[in-house]
Amino acid sequence: MAYEIKTINTVADRFKTGGRAGVWDDVPDKDWDNWIWQQQKRVKSLEQLEKVIHVTPEEREAFEKSNDLFHMGITPYYAALMDRDDPHCPIRLQSVPQLGELNILPTDLEDPLAEERDMPVPGITHRYPDRVLFYTTHNCPVFCRHCTRKRKVSDPSSAAQTKQLEVGLKYIEEHKEIRDVVISGGDPLSNSDDRLEYILSRLRAMEHIEVFRLGTRNLVTLPQRITDSFAKMLSKYHPVFVHTHFNHPKECTAEAFEACRKLADAGCVLNNQMVLLKGVNDKAEIVKELNHKLLMMRVRPYYIYQCDLSQGISHFRTPIETGLEIMEKLRGWTSGMAVPYYVVDAPGGGGKIPLLPNYVVKKEGKKLTLRNFKNDQFEYFEPEDNE
Ligand code: SF4
Repeated sequence: MAYEIKTINTVADRFKTGGRAGVWDDVPDKDWDNWIWQQQKRVKSLEQLEKVIHVTPEEREAFEKSNDLFHMGITPYYAALMDRDDPHCPIRLQSVPQLGELNILPTDLEDPLAEERDMPVPGITHRYPDRVLFYTTHNCPVFCRHCTRKRKVSDPSSAAQTKQLEVGLKYIEEHKEIRDVVISGGDPLSNSDDRLEYILSRLRAMEHIEVFRLGTRNLVTLPQRITDSFAKMLSKYHPVFVHTHFNHPKECTAEAFEACRKLADAGCVLNNQMVLLKGVNDKAEIVKELNHKLLMMRVRPYYIYQCDLSQGISHFRTPIETGLEIMEKLRGWTSGMAVPYYVVDAPGGGGKIPLLPNYVVKKEGKKLTLRNFKNDQFEYFEPEDNE
């Protein structure tokens, strides 16, 4: 008997809407779903924040002492994901100021990745021969408390002006060795569609440019930004890689799912770059759940970054051992596709250094004793002609 398919279930049904937190219930859908409205209505003051969550005395003090240094800014969509009563809520920790930000350690650095040092012209970091970072804005929908670029993100006076963009484009045009451009910020999707299309069309017209990547957290903090017309515009400039930054399964909402769907349907390749954050995602089961959800959203878990030595984020840092334990509990225990690279971006601009648990138990001449994820041991022999 032929199997009869009665209904088609999609994984989309497993993703729930982020909701309105009982604060924005009266906002018409046409506004709520509009990314410009979301940007304009960002939660920036304590008074606004108090309508969404019960602000603790510590959060109040942290806001008052840090807001001049690194502003608070949270889209209503992302704010609605916060737990009203739990100060340890992972969304809250990532977006509401914490007292730990005021604790600057002697080992903290203003520019830990030395991005400004390797800047041949303003707005371009050119460290590796064949690829560059191209900064196009310093605005973001949410100012993440763990941001590694706190030195300039959220400061409107540091945004790239049109003249600076032209200088950057000219630099890329003249350097034929560049084949890969990371369009970054801040969040490049804070640019208008027209401005982004101008940048992409200029880059695509350069014969030596093979791929570009958009480094964006809009899929997480402002999924309304991914409109049909934006996705259609991107599809003209393939191959386009979108590198996003989900840190917790709570961020994987129906809205985020839909944003990823539009980009994947438009032919973009989606990769996630999670940052390992104490209290947010420093447990293997959280990372595994996140990565499983990402795969259903057609996003490949690509990197787990060890938190950088940036000033004001040391309270988020975990020991390296925590990252290695997470890797140990992923490899073998879930699909290889759900196992990202764990990397430390070396302070001082040394690049990404991958870290793995050690699976080589011992080496005796040509004989290696290896262990698998269950700690079972196996012998492997290297070829004789490898001398
Ligand atoms: S979106 Fe990225 S650049 Fe913007 S504040 Fe967050 S981490 Fe920093």
